[in-house]
Amino acid sequence: MSSPRLKLLLTHDQISARVTELGQTIGEDFLTNSSAEPLWLIAALKGAVFFQADLARAIDRDVRLGFVRASSYGSGTTSSGDVRVTVELEDNIAGAHVILVEDIVDTGHSARALLDRLAAANPRTLRLAALLDKPSRRELPITIDYRGFEIPDQFVVGYGLDHDESYRNLRDISVLSL
Ligand code: 5GP
Ligand code: MG
Repeated sequence: MSSPRLKLLLTHDQISARVTELGQTIGEDFLTNSSAEPLWLIAALKGAVFFQADLARAIDRDVRLGFVRASSYGSGTTSSGDVRVTVELEDNIAGAHVILVEDIVDTGHSARALLDRLAAANPRTLRLAALLDKPSRRELPITIDYRGFEIPDQFVVGYGLDHDESYRNLRDISVLSL
């Protein structure tokens, strides 16, 4: 799919290489493969599902998959502070190692809401993996433990990221001119 509105930012090969590195780092950080120490990758729906799927397969260890969703009730393409958790985690993560997997951290409101919700479920450890980071737009301090790429303040689509639910299945990540 090509469109004059799309300008390539990260190729699928660049994304794959980086996700492989992140998976290796996570594997080293959580070396034990014991089911007594489960590692959960909790994806923030919907944008993080491709990243979660590729990251899980890049980790040489048993991992478990879960899903949550935060929705922002601001308008347009930026998120407001009014973030609600609209899909709740169905799994019991008490005492487990947990990594929230986000597509992008922009203002930080979505990640903050989801991290707070997961923390309330009493995991043993809680970290954040984000494929993309737009630090110039941050409104809340967020520590990204596993970060794919820092990108400029532009609206991107592809590899899970949408505009009005389209473009998620693009293999590359591109800037969309709105
Ligand atoms: P935050 O709450 O950090 O401002 O925004 C996080 C959410 O806003 C992301 O999970 C994503 O859904 C959306 N978002 C922020 N920046 C972009 C972007 O450049 N492209 C797309 N497609 N979504 C974005
Ligand atoms: Mg979105």
